[in-house]
Amino acid sequence: MARKRSAGEMEQLRREFLDRAEAAFEQMFGTDGQNGLVTFTEREDRACETTDALARWLLEEHLALDEAADPEAQVDCPLCGGPVRYDSPEQAELEVREFRSRRGKIEYERAARRCPRCRKVFFPAG
Ligand SMILES: [Zn+2]
Repeated sequence: MARKRSAGEMEQLRREFLDRAEAAFEQMFGTDGQNGLVTFTEREDRACETTDALARWLLEEHLALDEAADPEAQVDCPLCGGPVRYDSPEQAELEVREFRSRRGKIEYERAARRCPRCRKVFFPAG
């Protein structure tokens, strides 16, 4: 089950996306409508670079909602099957994972859990 973002968090995320989309627009058009791009290849390269970066950001932000990334989410211990959760997200050890998407390399974090019975540290699957 995925964590829900609050309305405030969603608004902040929306604004960040719009800022990034505006920056992409500027990289393509600049102030003069061309931004130094002349050949078709130059225009295509710039359009692909800017939209690939937007796609990677969208994917990373979406993945950040997964349970595996949320230290507060309860998961089952892979050894004993018992419930494990962290009360304090600040204490959670985070593992940064890299993933190669169709639009390039992205990174996302998963929070480690320690089972109080087995005393083993593990990262939830996902
Ligand atoms: Zn356990």
